[in-house]
Amino acid sequence: MEKIKSFTVDHTKLLPGVYLSREDAAGGQPVTTYDIRLTRPNFEPVMGTGEIHTIEHIGATYLRNRADVKDRVIYWGPMGCRTGFYLILAGAPALPEVERLMRDLFAFTAAFEGAIPGATPVECGNYSDMDLPAAKARAAKYGAILEAEKAAEKEALNKEVGQLSNSNEYHPIQDDLKEEQQIEEMKINPQVGP
Ligand SMILES: [Zn+2]
Repeated sequence: MEKIKSFTVDHTKLLPGVYLSREDAAGGQPVTTYDIRLTRPNFEPVMGTGEIHTIEHIGATYLRNRADVKDRVIYWGPMGCRTGFYLILAGAPALPEVERLMRDLFAFTAAFEGAIPGATPVECGNYSDMDLPAAKARAAKYGAILEAEKAAEKEALNKEVGQLSNSNEYHPIQDDLKEEQQIEEMKINPQVGP
């Protein structure tokens, strides 16, 4: 049998984060799979079954209730290796949008209080295998990783903009000054200006 594409990724080099895993077509429409990697594979302990199960239930409830994404969610579920989750969305949302969604989902999970959704024998196949405190701690830890990534990206972007403004082509500070001068002139001499 042929080796599937996801097994060709070197998992020893993967870090926690949000990854675009595959783009497929179903009935002519794009369907995109994202790897939501919470732990570093083959490096740190994987998630316990109770915590990953709890995040699965809370995450699915969050995604299927959120008005702007619920119609695009095809699947949310744990990886068998217990290092993360698969998120499958209709369409091809860009990675930053999915990262934002995951920051929201894990902030919601980290703050979750009360009864875990669907944790009853009628609604779930192993309802007692739940661990809300561990799930909340894991969600907070992963949320902090995603926030740090966002901050690093923002810093890189600021640097880029800073370099642009030092170049000859772009002078935002001088433009601002010019505008301020015009406003001053208008105040002194109301007939000047548009
Ligand atoms: Zn369940």
